[in-house]
Amino acid sequence: MDLLTDRQGSVARAGDGRAIVAGRRSVAGSVSQRACTFCGSRVVLYPIADALHLVHGPVGCAGYTWDIRGALSSGPQLHRLSFSTDMREQEVIRGGEKSLAHALRVLIGRHRPACAFVYATCIVGVIGDDVGAVCRTIEAETGIPVIPVASEGFKGTKKDGYAAACGALLDLMGRPGAGGPTIPKSVNIVGDFNVAGESWLIRSYLERMGIEVVACLTGDGRVDDIQRAPRAALNLVQCAGSMTRLAKAMRDRWNIPFEQVSFIGLEDTAAALYKAAELVGDADTLARTRELVRSEMAAVKPELARLRTDLEGRRAALYVGGAFKAFSLVRALRQLGMRTVMAGTQTGGGDDYEHLKSLVDPDTIIADDTNPLELAAFLQSERVDLFIGGVKERPIAYKLGIGFCDHNHERKIGLAGFAGMVSFAREVHATVTSPVWSLMPRQRVAP
Ligand code: SF4
Repeated sequence: MDLLTDRQGSVARAGDGRAIVAGRRSVAGSVSQRACTFCGSRVVLYPIADALHLVHGPVGCAGYTWDIRGALSSGPQLHRLSFSTDMREQEVIRGGEKSLAHALRVLIGRHRPACAFVYATCIVGVIGDDVGAVCRTIEAETGIPVIPVASEGFKGTKKDGYAAACGALLDLMGRPGAGGPTIPKSVNIVGDFNVAGESWLIRSYLERMGIEVVACLTGDGRVDDIQRAPRAALNLVQCAGSMTRLAKAMRDRWNIPFEQVSFIGLEDTAAALYKAAELVGDADTLARTRELVRSEMAAVKPELARLRTDLEGRRAALYVGGAFKAFSLVRALRQLGMRTVMAGTQTGGGDDYEHLKSLVDPDTIIADDTNPLELAAFLQSERVDLFIGGVKERPIAYKLGIGFCDHNHERKIGLAGFAGMVSFAREVHATVTSPVWSLMPRQRVAP
């Protein structure tokens, strides 16, 4: 297809020798699939279940609620409530600080949260409300941390929202009383959001290996646990795009090493567990890890082999948030006998794309921050049988008559770990082999 001139550097094919220009702001007019800065912050902080999450802005910014991104909690459910200061014309003209202070007093009094996060949205940045000053005032009054999150949607990409969220988490960890001596054989799970209970599964693996999970950042998160996080011996970073910045800051501040891992797919899950055992465990931990990996693999491989017979040779495209998930999905699809013919991310970096190219077959399309028209054209030109993405990608696949697998935060079935690989394979198998596609010939999009 003919790309917009400003998009030319953002798309390449593996083996064509061209480097992807990554980390740019979305091109105006390209109708990016990428979410805004505020959304990036909320994705990271929202699963903290005993915190108050208050969106300072018009009510529309708060529309993307828990019901859409279902991070589960084993206890408090405060994160499921979506609070907004509901700014209107009066606040835009006269300023929204008074209504922000009022909302915080009412909500903290009513819900008694362990802390409050206040998200600044576009209009707050435009009119210049001093969110930090309001937060300091309310914190002094109520005695709980009230943390501003500078996430004005216009100020950058989704990655800038991740950065603002990491800053807020560091603020929480740096409060008096937080931290303490290092806990032996312990880790933090960093960058897992407990979608469909995935953090619980990962935690259970680590506990079976004899490793203590100090905090999960931020799936099923609790403020107390996050304040203990500086005591962990290692940070296991699952969502590299959003949380590597936090892991680097924790390394610099508390001397905690970090390791980028993935719990998507059999190979990567096993590698992640062995890495944790090697870095914080002892001979007993390693023996337990070997046994765990052996038994989990043995339990899932027959079913995967059965599903693979129908999937062998099928073609897949994927467009996901971060690069580490893309790497894992390429490997997981290969395990099912499938070939990735297009792979893209919202927030990958230049080095990530080079690594992605080295994983896929020659000629695979690699795209940074793509848009619906490009995606539709790629899906058709590459004759894909399966598209993996999130809520914004699903209609593109269905309108074209192509199978779809949701691998984003909206899903209700866990796809991480060994058991998750079976769920993933079943979902892929069900959509790719569905008889519905024979009733719906593939549509063509306008060039
Ligand atoms: S871009 Fe701005 S106005 Fe739109 S949802 Fe994000 S913060 Fe709100």
